[in-house]
Amino acid sequence: MKTINSISNMTKTTVRWRQKGLSVALVPTMGYFHEGHLALMRMARSRADRVVVSLFVNPSQFGPEEDLDRYPRDLERDTELAKGQGVDCLFSPSAGEMYLPGFQTWIDVEGLSQGLCGASRPGHFRGVATVVAKLFNIVRPDIAVFGQKDFQQLQIIHRMVKDLNMPIDIMAHPIVREPDGLAMSSRNYYLSIEERKSALSLSQALRLGEKMVADGIRSGQDIIQAVRDHILSHTGTKIDYIFLGDPEELEECQEVHGKALLALAVWVGRTRLIDNTLLEG
Ligand code: AMP
Repeated sequence: MKTINSISNMTKTTVRWRQKGLSVALVPTMGYFHEGHLALMRMARSRADRVVVSLFVNPSQFGPEEDLDRYPRDLERDTELAKGQGVDCLFSPSAGEMYLPGFQTWIDVEGLSQGLCGASRPGHFRGVATVVAKLFNIVRPDIAVFGQKDFQQLQIIHRMVKDLNMPIDIMAHPIVREPDGLAMSSRNYYLSIEERKSALSLSQALRLGEKMVADGIRSGQDIIQAVRDHILSHTGTKIDYIFLGDPEELEECQEVHGKALLALAVWVGRTRLIDNTLLEG
């Protein structure tokens, strides 16, 4: 596996592959790999001749009060883990090269970026869409793999690719969880033992929502209330949002009929966690 830091070397490498008729898959990440990231890499490995994993903690998607500086990093460990999945290239550019002085071009997927995480993290999805578009231009993949854990991000990328005619197939990987149900996340690293217990309330609340729908309950208000009560019965939790609505347009719904997205963002102490599930009413 090669590690490439320079943008021009990355593009040269993939252009060469493509000239040889090889297909290329990209897995964009911010590093500090866990089994969720590795599952995305395996999906990419099974769909393309060459796999590039980008590792870039993108400053433009963090707000001024957010955890950019303390975001966990371990390039040596990540390198070994990516190697173990048969990744061909780890692309780890510097922030200075990604955002040259005078940088001023942004991609804003307007409507889909407004609600859910967009409401409490203004500018976050503008940073995400812009860096993903840059990575697409640098790596020029045929396929890019994203996790459903960041459901809103996935929908925004789908829309960007469609709206801007980017010739890339977006593949979604289901959420990878710990054995007890907690969705894997690099930010789980921040949790104390006590917080780790409270963090379990997110996936439990989603299972509760699924059960209510399976039992025939359709009222959005009742489902959201039950989800809220369950989470708040755990110490140190504070709800950022509970969303129930259409998974495509991310518009809220009052009743569950057909497919609906139940998505959460919850503070557990100083750590903000997200999780979601698709309901079938
Ligand atoms: P991150 O490094 O957190 O920006 O995540 C990189 C990619 O991995 C994104 O497409 C995420 O949605 C995906 N991802 C992160 N955690 C999980 C998980 N638990 N299950 C599936 N995909 C995940």
